[in-house]
Amino acid sequence: MVGRTKMHVKKGDTVQVLSGKERGKTGKVLTVTPEKQTVIVEKINFIKRHSRPTQKAPQGGIIEKEGPMHAAKVAVVCSKCNEPVRIRKKQLDDGKKVRTCAKCGEILDH
Ligand SMILES: [Zn+2]
Repeated sequence: MVGRTKMHVKKGDTVQVLSGKERGKTGKVLTVTPEKQTVIVEKINFIKRHSRPTQKAPQGGIIEKEGPMHAAKVAVVCSKCNEPVRIRKKQLDDGKKVRTCAKCGEILDH
């Protein structure tokens, strides 16, 4: 499965929302789901969810949680440019593949 559905964002990336009502917001990627091409970004796209009843709250409740959003709606923010940038792939001398900022060349993989 690995490599079949590559995404331009990875867990831990700082991304900016490019469209929708939360456009312009930035956050850290918490989860990526390559099969669905979605990401969950910290503090963005909150959705209300019903929580399962627990011993403490037998009725269940409504909690707000980050919801998945389409990966195409976010772009990785370059720490050097401090803005969302296009990504370029680069192979290092040791064969390791990294993502770099298409603008300044900064390596975006940590
Ligand atoms: Zn850059």
